[in-house]
Amino acid sequence: MTNPNWFRTSYRRNLVDMHIEDWNPEFLSQFDPDKYYENLVRAHVKSPMIYLQSHVGHCNWDTKSGHRHQSFTDCTKKMQRLFDLCHQGGMDVVAYYSLIYNNDAYVAHPEWRLLDINGHGTRFDTGKGQYFGGSRYGLCCPNNLGYRDFVLKQLDEIFDLFTLEGIFLDMLFWTRPCYCDACKARWKAEHGGDIPTIINWNDPTWRAFQAKREEWMQDFAMMVTNKIKSRNPNCSVEHQFSTMMHGWRQGVNQNISIASDYCGGDFYGGAPQHSVACKLYYNMTANQPFEYMTSRCYPGLREHTTTKTEDMLRLSVMSTLAHHGAALLIDAIDPKGTLDSRLYDTYGKIYADAEKLEPYMEGKLVQDVQVLFNLEGKYNPDVNNVAVGTPRAADDSSPHTNAVMGACRSLQQMHIPFGVFSNWKPEKAEGAKVIVLADAYDLPQNAVEYVEKFVSDGGSLYMSGRVNPELVQKLTGIRLDGAFQAPMTYMAPTADGQPLFTDHNRDYPFAVTCGLQKMVMPNNFHGTVLATTVLPYDPPAQNGELHPDPSDGFDYTAPNARFASIHSNPPGRFTDIPSLIKTTYGQGTVVYSAAAFEMLDRPATAPLFANIMSLLIGTRQWSFASNAPQQVEIIEFEASEKNRRYINLINSQDSFQIPAICDFDVSVKLDAAPSQILSLPDETPLPFIYENGYATFHVAKLPICNFYAVEI
Ligand SMILES: [Zn+2]
Repeated sequence: MTNPNWFRTSYRRNLVDMHIEDWNPEFLSQFDPDKYYENLVRAHVKSPMIYLQSHVGHCNWDTKSGHRHQSFTDCTKKMQRLFDLCHQGGMDVVAYYSLIYNNDAYVAHPEWRLLDINGHGTRFDTGKGQYFGGSRYGLCCPNNLGYRDFVLKQLDEIFDLFTLEGIFLDMLFWTRPCYCDACKARWKAEHGGDIPTIINWNDPTWRAFQAKREEWMQDFAMMVTNKIKSRNPNCSVEHQFSTMMHGWRQGVNQNISIASDYCGGDFYGGAPQHSVACKLYYNMTANQPFEYMTSRCYPGLREHTTTKTEDMLRLSVMSTLAHHGAALLIDAIDPKGTLDSRLYDTYGKIYADAEKLEPYMEGKLVQDVQVLFNLEGKYNPDVNNVAVGTPRAADDSSPHTNAVMGACRSLQQMHIPFGVFSNWKPEKAEGAKVIVLADAYDLPQNAVEYVEKFVSDGGSLYMSGRVNPELVQKLTGIRLDGAFQAPMTYMAPTADGQPLFTDHNRDYPFAVTCGLQKMVMPNNFHGTVLATTVLPYDPPAQNGELHPDPSDGFDYTAPNARFASIHSNPPGRFTDIPSLIKTTYGQGTVVYSAAAFEMLDRPATAPLFANIMSLLIGTRQWSFASNAPQQVEIIEFEASEKNRRYINLINSQDSFQIPAICDFDVSVKLDAAPSQILSLPDETPLPFIYENGYATFHVAKLPICNFYAVEI
């Protein structure tokens, strides 16, 4: 039996992509398990993830149920040799297996295919192979009984031949609504009728279909997890969960986390995405540490010979460690089966430094502000009543996701301790000083009830934009009457709100390009109006140009034919309609903003958002503070059993070379002066001062990451 706890102490992982076909006898012909293993040793890898199969479907073992990779000679023996070498070297082996994405199965069994509304499989694609969802990639439907049976047989073969600590199952998501016979039959049996064809978030049948897609994906994932556990209960299961914040189309909510021992997935979005994904994983995973994967290729896996700089790889690994997550770097094999050992020398430098920090991976993440991510809100309410299969239906935008990312960006830049939690487990926000609902439309009832009680019991809440109107009305008395129909709106501070707005004032109000809700105030409103709504000048009643020239094709009667200023829509109509208010509910405090302005990446956004957060916590104080530049991210863990705090600093500049950030202070809130503050991992004591409840130390230089321990 294998060690069921291997992943709890494993922070240095790697994966080598091997999606290689076999039509050329050269392909994978030079795969050498000893050389592969030497690279792992050189890279200081603790837990390699190794391909037993790929999106191509070819199996790297002598399979009976599928297609063995023809040019990868002696593949079973070579893979067993590699696994044995890793085990002898004290490494944990995780097997890679691609679900749904399987070209062999797609070709051999047309009846297994995932089909779009026109009955086309995924290799039917006008994108000519450039689109990730199609053409090169053959997808099988997880509802197809034949495919499900095939997957179970493949897993049995793997366990008959290999000893492994864990399995990673890739590609557990839908790329589109499936209209195959298996899905049609299952929908008819479980719901009745035909699968809906109009995306309409107000239609109960469409919503039921989306819920079924999530449920079916969980059912498929659980079938695989249960099979693996039946062969080895100690074998860890991780399903691909980079999809956590992707659009509704993928049918992923908490379903993948439920089927996994720990959360993990691959990301390519740079430092801001890294920061948010780690924090959401932290609150979504069944067990710590979560796993954060990214490629050594730049900008992504499409460029096989372009590699990230050492600075970029180090930033990626250390950002994960700063969140106490496990880092995984993805390489891609050369078609002939070789690896570039120079890369593993670079990994080795970074992972050797990471290894020294592993003893400090303990404690709980400090999350003064908790930003809610609604796993059921990954769609755009403005793209509604659209037929599946039309170009508009391909819209994958989610204003809620943008608003969450924006709120987190502001909190990170202003050095306010924060976390990200989901509607699935709202209780993860327990202990937070402030909850943020950023354009959080369509919040499920359990989350609404949690938030209401949180505020009623004395918590503080920030809400913005289209958050459930019933919740806004209950907590503030204000009724929302839809968004202003204007090309641009503004938030103008009142005298009470002016201190929040820094450079913006009534004459030069804060510009909003993301929609602003119209508040209808109750007669007995007992709160404070912090900002009002300003609209652009109305076009003149006589709309058309004075001297139109019909021959040039321009519509001289269009609403925007007349304007105040040709490049912009400056503020013109100053209303008394509030756009930002503060009030109380029960024992708690609420701020509602009619615009989810936090999604706008503007110079004034972060200061305004931080000032609102400070207004919400009142006389309480943040767990840390800093005068560091916005590019510094600060993460704190509290290890109360050891009377220790960990302060981790990340230089989150996304560039090939990362310049150091110098000369700033970090202050940690403590009830009494600490005994010492240590620089990690060498544990060198640092000078500090303790005053006003904060211990403050100076950071002379932050190259890419610095780690500290505060001993109480
Ligand atoms: Zn299907």
